[in-house]
Amino acid sequence: MRKKFCLVLVVLCIYLFAYNIYASSIYIPFARRNISVGIIVDVSSVSVGSSKTFFVSDSSKKKIKLTKGTITISCCQKGVQIGKYNLSLPIQIKSSNGIIFANSKPYRGYLTIKKIGNKINVINVLHIEDYVKGVLPAEIGTSCDMEALKVQVIISRTFALANLGRHANHGFNICSTQHCQVYRGAGVESNRCNKAISETKNEVLAYDEKLANTFFHANCGGHTESPKHVWNWKNAPSYLKGVKCGYCAKSPGTNWERVFDESFVREKFSDNNIGKIKKIKVVGKTPGGNAKKIEIIHSKGNFLLNAYKFRITVDHKQIKSLTFDNIKTNNNKIYFTGRGFGHKVGLCQWGAKVMAGKGKKYKKILQHYYPKTKITRVNYK
Ligand SMILES: [Zn+2]
Ligand SMILES: [Zn+2]
Repeated sequence: MRKKFCLVLVVLCIYLFAYNIYASSIYIPFARRNISVGIIVDVSSVSVGSSKTFFVSDSSKKKIKLTKGTITISCCQKGVQIGKYNLSLPIQIKSSNGIIFANSKPYRGYLTIKKIGNKINVINVLHIEDYVKGVLPAEIGTSCDMEALKVQVIISRTFALANLGRHANHGFNICSTQHCQVYRGAGVESNRCNKAISETKNEVLAYDEKLANTFFHANCGGHTESPKHVWNWKNAPSYLKGVKCGYCAKSPGTNWERVFDESFVREKFSDNNIGKIKKIKVVGKTPGGNAKKIEIIHSKGNFLLNAYKFRITVDHKQIKSLTFDNIKTNNNKIYFTGRGFGHKVGLCQWGAKVMAGKGKKYKKILQHYYPKTKITRVNYK
């Protein structure tokens, strides 16, 4: 009897374990193990090397073994010359110790160099879990609470997997700048970030069995915003509808002021037959507190434009968000006072840091900013 009971218990445990794995995994057809990142693009030459033996090969399988050191690869009439060898692009460069240098910076995985026009692109190909190690320190730093680091891991890993086709025209998956995510290679890795990555291994954010769009920004100024209002999306997903934040209010950079010369702003709209600017008005507000439209009243008339376009046209770094408290014109100057930093869609990084500081777990934080999403595991091919 006792034996039978134990057997039933063992079978039940195996079933629950298997079910749990199945229930918490997501099938993503393009979830490849490796990602290709454009690290140095549109250049005429690059220096590559290693502290150990390294290998350069081309598509015809010609392979050159080099001892430690650096070589310069310059583009490119009839392929590239390495010593007495001539290789045709694309070429692959791999180090025997797994760390390869490009322009003196170390990278995991290997490098591919492709010819684009008469320039070259240097591409780092590596495992996605290793890629995230070079993203985290650049995107959120190394010193915030562990739970905030885990939040950023999930966001960055999910973003990368959901955007593998973003730079298909350039010959790689994702770029290494703010356009996609900032990636700085192995030289910036930290033990804390790497711990957050290994403790959330393979975890991604999903909604309705698909990868979520994990947009994030620095500081929401009190309320996040729907892409419907920011980028005119017709069908913005419900988990991006915008939520009250309430955590970032006392963070650095929440409240900001900027002053521009009237002539500087006028110059930006020179295509609009603009006269001297008399007043700039906010027309309508979104549920997240953003300006919907901006009206520019000038000496020759007035015109309306989308607030997002206004911010991009004038200076999106100086005008830190579209949550304006005030726009004043006085003495040939235009004064902006506002709150928040960034497009305000998705997760508020400062809010997430404050939540983590208050002891909230990473799953709770992600649930707050992306309601009704769930964390799931991705199976790499
Ligand atoms: Zn990009
Ligand atoms: Zn916030």
